[in-house]
Amino acid sequence: MPLSKRKINILPEQLCNQIAAGEVVERPASVVKELIENSLDADASEIRVEVESGGKKLILVADDGVGMGREDLLLSLERHATSKISSEADLFRLGSLGFRGEALPSIASVSRMRLRSRLRDELAGHEVYLEGGIVKRCEEVGTPHGTTIEIRDLFFNTPARRKFLRRDETELSHISDIITKLALANPAVQFQLAHNGRVVLELYRHRQLRERVVAVLGRKLAPELLELQPAAADTLRLSGLLARPNVDRSTPAAVYTYINGRFVQDRTVRHAVLEGYRGVLMKGRYPVAVIFLEIDPALVDVNVHPAKSEVRFRDQRLVHDFIVSSVRDRIRDERTADAPVHPWLATNPPHQTASEVPSRPDTASAPDLDRSAAVQESLASYARQMTAHAQGNRSAFSAPPGQPAPPAGLSSPPPLTQYNSAGFFAGLKIIGQYRRSYLLCEDAGDLVIIDQHAAHERIGFEALRAQFNRGQIEQLGLLVPVMVEFDHKGAALLNEYLPELERFGFDVEPFGGTTFAVKGTPSILHEADFEKLLLDLVAELDEAGGTEMLLSAVEQVLVTIACHRVVRANQKLSEAEMRALLRQLDEVDFSQHCPHGRPVIHRVSGGDVERFFRRT
Ligand code: ADP
Ligand code: MG
Repeated sequence: MPLSKRKINILPEQLCNQIAAGEVVERPASVVKELIENSLDADASEIRVEVESGGKKLILVADDGVGMGREDLLLSLERHATSKISSEADLFRLGSLGFRGEALPSIASVSRMRLRSRLRDELAGHEVYLEGGIVKRCEEVGTPHGTTIEIRDLFFNTPARRKFLRRDETELSHISDIITKLALANPAVQFQLAHNGRVVLELYRHRQLRERVVAVLGRKLAPELLELQPAAADTLRLSGLLARPNVDRSTPAAVYTYINGRFVQDRTVRHAVLEGYRGVLMKGRYPVAVIFLEIDPALVDVNVHPAKSEVRFRDQRLVHDFIVSSVRDRIRDERTADAPVHPWLATNPPHQTASEVPSRPDTASAPDLDRSAAVQESLASYARQMTAHAQGNRSAFSAPPGQPAPPAGLSSPPPLTQYNSAGFFAGLKIIGQYRRSYLLCEDAGDLVIIDQHAAHERIGFEALRAQFNRGQIEQLGLLVPVMVEFDHKGAALLNEYLPELERFGFDVEPFGGTTFAVKGTPSILHEADFEKLLLDLVAELDEAGGTEMLLSAVEQVLVTIACHRVVRANQKLSEAEMRALLRQLDEVDFSQHCPHGRPVIHRVSGGDVERFFRRT
């Protein structure tokens, strides 16, 4: 239509609601979130959620809160109808979770909705039934006090949106994720979630946050939780629980942050928590933490995001630094009061505090880090002396290609072909084993040092990559299946990603509740901590978005599997075993980058050794 002929229309109410629904209602989990938040605002002490087909067919949320009378019930369905604010000033003093008065009409406009509610001290309740936002019926009914809202056929009238919904398991895992987040912030409220008639989550009333965290995130966390000493600045207060750094995850998904009681995945807050843990967790690992920030509502704008998942602080720096120091202090206290958090920290000089311990450039398992740290340190100081001696001469230290920059004072990598020439490793003359962790070898007058654990991992990774590229990862069936129990979120994720795990060589079956039977694993593994491995993998798959995985994510998954091979550091190797390891290294294609980025080999040229001892 030519521009000049256009006319401005005022959109019909119904369309406005559908547009608003686009912002608020993305998927079943967003409906669950809005409804539970309403129940919490209504002072419910018990909230029951029932879903069918991942919420696509049915979402029901029932509470025992204050309820609504007939008039309010109908009003609640009007746009901008809310009992929670009445003036602009209120907007900056929000105590409740909702306030836009948009959720119910938005959800109603894209579903078939039934609301039933009764005020506590009234005899009869009322029920309203709507289709696509149009009220079809309103009648008096007998019902327990509180409110029950039932949503059927979400997006039935907006097929384009319905198409975006994913598998039932995926939608269910989003729902259980949202319930986890809300349940952590409300330990005194009882929650139940049932899917297709089966109860998948049952949380009783808890007196303490600690009990709730353990119930939701897993019993094994119980002995590892540190309480944040309630710290308060003028306008800020921080509380919550931090898991000791020996508990770690491969993604930051277990860092739960709340602002004034609301789950907010705020970047500043999350960054601050991670910063507080810096130096005590290995690089690429993330903590488990549940943190509540109370802040004067006048100093934070929560009204910047329709789903209220981001906020704007007036003084971002202050908030950030406050959190960093509270978290860091708590973890540091623990370290001085208690045993060291990591076995490898124990061997560091006592004056070194957690934050001074350099973070390692990899995700190797803890026990061998003291050795590699010590070796790297002495190598680095050796190199410093050497560069001082041999000005203008290129240092002979080198890392293989594709590896991170070597420590200061070391030179750039040698040509790719160096480790790629056929039989390079097999041709090395073995001098011996150093600290049961490194092979010392000689090659044409140079000293070659090989990290046996890194080599073992790299070999495993290459084997996996080759198998994956061929289309099938070799599987090893376990004679006796290993039973592994997960927390409910882990179980939901695991259920979702079972087909992907199969692609990576795992045979895992649900075994009722949150227990799974591991029946087969990639053959390179033999044995491993399956629970930790599966949790890591599932978290990674979740971040990468499941089946539409990028190549980089595939590699990351393969690296994670390879890392869980039985540790080969600190293990005495016979001459034959060293030979075998070297032969296997010849199969590794060092010209391809390894996403792990951990050096396998260091070479010290004979010339540099001589220069160091001033023989030239
Ligand atoms: P908001 O939560 O932003 O106020 P909603 O559309 O979510 O907007 O809800 C509108 C109003 O309906 C609320 O302000 C509240 O008064 C009422 N309401 C909604 N759900 C419940 C419930 N479960 N119990 C009691 N009142 C409710
Ligand atoms: Mg609401």
